[in-house]
Amino acid sequence: MLSFAKLLIVSIIMGQYRENKYPSLITHHALPIITVMEEIMINKRIVVGVLDVNCYIVGCKTHNKAVIIDPGDRGDSILSYIEKEGLEVTYIIATHAHADHIGGIADVKEKTGALFLLHEDDLVTLNAKWISDSIAALRLKPPPQPDRLIKGDEIIKVCDDLSFKVLHTPGHTPGGISLLADDYVYTGDALFAGSIGRTDLPGGSERVLKESIKTKLMVLEDDVKVLPGHCPDSTIGYERRNNVYITQ
Ligand SMILES: [Zn+2]
Ligand SMILES: [Zn+2]
Repeated sequence: MLSFAKLLIVSIIMGQYRENKYPSLITHHALPIITVMEEIMINKRIVVGVLDVNCYIVGCKTHNKAVIIDPGDRGDSILSYIEKEGLEVTYIIATHAHADHIGGIADVKEKTGALFLLHEDDLVTLNAKWISDSIAALRLKPPPQPDRLIKGDEIIKVCDDLSFKVLHTPGHTPGGISLLADDYVYTGDALFAGSIGRTDLPGGSERVLKESIKTKLMVLEDDVKVLPGHCPDSTIGYERRNNVYITQ
């Protein structure tokens, strides 16, 4: 008989997100997005791992500093990009502590010396047995403990030209965060193009997630680009008008 942990791992491997209600409408947007910021910003998406997590490397071309958001899977492809671009990685930020988003943290931290940041409410997720079982099942290295805990609303400064504002967006996990930099918001598994994160895993709550999206994300301007933890990107305006989990 399958144990609870194994069932959870299977359920994770079956997918992190809900069925998209607008499949034909979500395939248009793809990085890189052309904006004024592109002149000075690096905004690289690398899809990693068996669960196709969007790992983002966001940096500044002037100062060659960068952060890595959600290094899932092994760090190889992420590290080779960092090396090729000659970037100094200051922070590794996990939008939440599900196995598919944190599997590369050990590798990347070891090679770059960057500080690992996680929201304090996701320590419980990071240290849950079903997460370490998932990491082991995916044959990834166990993640280290965070160097700093995030509470929400702080500014993470990478260099003079690049900072992130932390938006606490719980519901998919208790310590899920989104990261806002200029007109880009990295939403982890809270908000997807045409969908929202699943809420049936430990610590999840549909009511809380919908409230997070409404109060932290839907207050942003229409033209803010949504860069989610899986699948293609979108915009706040597009999701405000079309995402059935928001419009209902
Ligand atoms: Zn995910
Ligand atoms: Zn997740």
